[in-house]
Amino acid sequence: MQTDYSGSCHCGATGFTYRTGIKPEQWSIRACQCSFCRAHDALSTSDPAGQIAFVASEPELLKEYRFGLKTADFLLCRDCGVYIGAVLASAGSVFGIVNVHALKGTPANLTATAAVSYDTEDVAGRVARREERWTPVTEHPNW
Ligand SMILES: [Zn+2]
Repeated sequence: MQTDYSGSCHCGATGFTYRTGIKPEQWSIRACQCSFCRAHDALSTSDPAGQIAFVASEPELLKEYRFGLKTADFLLCRDCGVYIGAVLASAGSVFGIVNVHALKGTPANLTATAAVSYDTEDVAGRVARREERWTPVTEHPNW
């Protein structure tokens, strides 16, 4: 059974619905050690069999930030500054992750987080990993 989990930035202008059949206690929760994710204390999760709809009540407040290898857009609110998730467009498909810390009412019983570093990846390796592990994105405020 699929369950919808909603999340948003602090002011509520941007957000997402994350649909997954994985129980929260079995979510893969990654603490990426790049300087962006550490600065935001971001925790990422994804489900290749799930769906993410990114939404914005005020689309002009959605900031798409690229850095490093510039393969993905990291989504931030221009008003309150919260990081909600990231998207990668590749080969006609779009994949995403959500920031667990932006969920409304973070589920209880989450697994321990795994600290991960992707520093040694090249562009092809990074895109391939995300295509395999990230969640298909069904909706984006800029579509
Ligand atoms: Zn906001």
